[in-house]
Amino acid sequence: MTDKLRCRAVIFDFDGTLADSMPFLAQIGVEVMMRFYGVSKEEAVDRYKSTTGLPYEHQIKLNFPDHDANEEAIEVFEKMKIDRIFEQEIFPESEGTLNLLKQKGFTLFVSSSTFQSTITEYFLRLNMDEYFTEILGYRPGFEKGAHHFNHVLEKHGIPLHEVVFIGDSIKDYERSKDFTQFVALEGMFTRSDFEEAGHLDHIIANLAELEPILELIPE
Ligand SMILES: [Mg+2]
Repeated sequence: MTDKLRCRAVIFDFDGTLADSMPFLAQIGVEVMMRFYGVSKEEAVDRYKSTTGLPYEHQIKLNFPDHDANEEAIEVFEKMKIDRIFEQEIFPESEGTLNLLKQKGFTLFVSSSTFQSTITEYFLRLNMDEYFTEILGYRPGFEKGAHHFNHVLEKHGIPLHEVVFIGDSIKDYERSKDFTQFVALEGMFTRSDFEEAGHLDHIIANLAELEPILELIPE
């Protein structure tokens, strides 16, 4: 049996972890790459997938360094995202999981590559903002990964070895290394994708499997 992860706080990735938004984001992300860079659909899917979990701005700059179209492509993507992100539904297990963990005494955060105002508004509209001690969104210089993790440590005083980060992308796993414990949620990436990347344990297929593998560190 899998060892339980002892923690005080849980940080949730947003897209593809709490919200079923990955099919939509991948679709517009791929569309923009095809339109602005003239790549085939197959190539765009590969380029999108290999960098997913990062802000789209970084996905573009990693894939097409110094390209003239970058600024416009990023702007078009963000506009398409904001127009339709509020239509993207939360996973059916999300609210039950948050509620249970909160009741048990875990401190909960969101860490997202979505702009701060958008992600805050998303949870306000669903009346779910109160589950979280803080919702951390993206702005240049403050992103999911080291910045958000250090913020949790410094502002909230929670040691990072007492934190579990749960995400659905390989980049999420890579960014958790040297900072927090990690739980992988299968979806866009499979168990074997995570294993190949070096994450061998604590891989779940559904958010409902999260609470049973966590153990609260008492105050
Ligand atoms: Mg994600």
